[in-house]
Amino acid sequence: MLHPLIADPSATRHVLKKFHLRAVKGLGQNFLIDANVVRQIVEAADICAGDEVLEIGPGIGTLTQGLLEAGARVTAVEVDKKLPAVLNETLAGYENFRLIAGDILKLNVAEIMPRPFKVVANLPYYITTQILLTLLEKNLPVTKIVTMVQREVAERMTAAPGSKIYGALSVAVQLRSEASIAFEVPPKSFLPPPEVTSAVVVCNVRKLFDVDEEFFTRVVRSAFAQRRKTLANSLAGAGFSREKISAALTATGIDGSRRAETLSLAEFAELSTALRQ
Ligand code: SAM
Repeated sequence: MLHPLIADPSATRHVLKKFHLRAVKGLGQNFLIDANVVRQIVEAADICAGDEVLEIGPGIGTLTQGLLEAGARVTAVEVDKKLPAVLNETLAGYENFRLIAGDILKLNVAEIMPRPFKVVANLPYYITTQILLTLLEKNLPVTKIVTMVQREVAERMTAAPGSKIYGALSVAVQLRSEASIAFEVPPKSFLPPPEVTSAVVVCNVRKLFDVDEEFFTRVVRSAFAQRRKTLANSLAGAGFSREKISAALTATGIDGSRRAETLSLAEFAELSTALRQ
């Protein structure tokens, strides 16, 4: 079956008009209209025939179509109740497509995707961080995450220790994956164009440090909760006892007067293990 390409300004306008739709700002709806960007995302995700892919927010099916054409088996989660009817039509005839109507933050992803899978998504920008943290912190069998995000978020995800934008998101992403910015995408590649430049980030998921992830996450979030405070004060402010903090700092040789943003991933891992004893 030969499908018309959805990633095109006039095709997208036609679909929106036909279904009496308008992009809903509150749901972060900026539809891709650039076939080149779709192709580049599919390439960055290194899709092979039969790959299991979770797409968050398929919209009218633009990126989904690129993934399906590359042979992926796509499970897409979409919260907008008006879109299933649209997707039924725009993706009619593709056999490897499964749509789940619902909110990605409320679904049990482990149940939906029990086997190793990749995430490929043009994320709704209002909940990018929550989605990424959910995918990374739930010990899911995810192998690769390729997401379109705001450029500023992409920079935080890939920031090096010591830089001003290095924070809890950088640590969460880099603890579990090797993350890099693949390419930037200008506002004109979307309908409607967002106010910001976007970027596609590729996270190759891996386990590097042997830590209790839940406790580690608590330590990192506590350390970054008040960025201007010293590490020791931030941890104390988050409820760790002064004795425990001081013992952990002595054991690891980390200076408690440093700020969270100067700690490397390895130092966070050591600190977390020491605080847990
Ligand atoms: N993938 C399409 C594309 O590239 O053209 C649409 C991307 S648009 C930036 C984000 C999509 O995420 C929208 O379709 C929106 O309705 C959907 N969305 C927003 N919040 C969601 C949520 N909590 N769970 C699932 N999908 C959501």
